[in-house]
Amino acid sequence: MKSFYPPERTLMGPGPSDVNPRVLAAMARPTIGHLDPEFVRMMDEVKQLLQYAFCTSNEMTLAVSAPGSAGMECCFVNLVEPGDKVVVAQNGVFGGRMKENVERAGGTAVMVEHTWGAPVDPGRVEEALKANPDAKIVAFVHAETSTGALSDAKTLVKLAHDHGCLVIVDAVTSLAGVELRVDEWGIDAIYSGTQKCLSAPPGLSPVSFAPSALDKIKARKTKVQSWFLDLQLVMAYWGGETKRAYHHTAPINTLYGLHEALVVLEEEGLEKSWTRHAHNHAALREGFEAMGLNFVVEAKSRLPQLNAVSVPDGVDEAAVRSRLLNEFNLEIGAGLGAMAGKIWRVGLMGHASNTTNVLFCLGAMDAVLGAMNAPIRPGAAVGRAREYYRAK
Ligand SMILES: *Cc1c(COP(=O)(O)O)cnc(C)c1O
Repeated sequence: MKSFYPPERTLMGPGPSDVNPRVLAAMARPTIGHLDPEFVRMMDEVKQLLQYAFCTSNEMTLAVSAPGSAGMECCFVNLVEPGDKVVVAQNGVFGGRMKENVERAGGTAVMVEHTWGAPVDPGRVEEALKANPDAKIVAFVHAETSTGALSDAKTLVKLAHDHGCLVIVDAVTSLAGVELRVDEWGIDAIYSGTQKCLSAPPGLSPVSFAPSALDKIKARKTKVQSWFLDLQLVMAYWGGETKRAYHHTAPINTLYGLHEALVVLEEEGLEKSWTRHAHNHAALREGFEAMGLNFVVEAKSRLPQLNAVSVPDGVDEAAVRSRLLNEFNLEIGAGLGAMAGKIWRVGLMGHASNTTNVLFCLGAMDAVLGAMNAPIRPGAAVGRAREYYRAK
């Protein structure tokens, strides 16, 4: 065996996204003890930076030591008690995982199913809340990465509160990519990931809990069934009211990476990051449409960081992706679940959302689809995107 050197890819799939070299450099710094005062100081900064990214002053804001799926599980196991009824709005793969989480925590999931590719419909969620006045929680995915649809979180949160429910929001793909305001919108519990629009490697899950959520957790009659994800124990480690106590050994170097990714975000400015994502999405969209590729999601609900387009008739979608990978070192995503084989998912997340990547991806797809005689308009995409950039 020899050392492993990964190939140099451009990551434009649904995650992980390209990691900023500054983040990789930060992660290569020496490992220190996880209770070292300098490390503890850095953890406090990570917390402050996460509060900035989430637009919240929630004291209970931290990074769970595991990927986004663990942040999801952390929200559900702490908030759902056996017997609790949870309204889950599903419009893609990740809503289905919410159902699993509710049921494994002993709750009952009331599913509000949507066509994949559509945003969550507040009217349908309201019907479910009226039909289930004993519901305690509403859960939905803000940015559905499996389809590229953005839901109106602000409206959904207000609706849930009007019916006496707390809200759990999946912001794994939305954080730093589109507008998200935890305090202003009144979100009770939220989780995200490091590997999408924060452009740090996978392995951590930023979460934030409002006092409303903590009240429900404190009033629990049963213990949280997961020891590792029990918030009261995790928080004793991350600080807060109690003294820092050993809970688990934090992934130290991964946290250096998250710290640097958040410093990069703060330097750019959160709102500027949202605008940059919107801008590069518009250029990519112009290019795709010039090529003749159609978006899955209607214009007003499209995620700028995840562009889902239909595979043209007669094209072997997997062959296109493998040619992009082998000939261009470019990764784009396939469809998931019901959309497998039917769509491509092109991510413009975080550090990867830039002009060079947009033009590179359009050029590579144009070349590969053209060589495969796919029914597209060859040669049009890059020029159209460049025109868009020039006009702005
Ligand atoms: C990626 C993703 C997750 C899971 O995150 P992992 O880091 O893969 O565990 C959850 N929800 C959404 C919407 C995602 O895009």
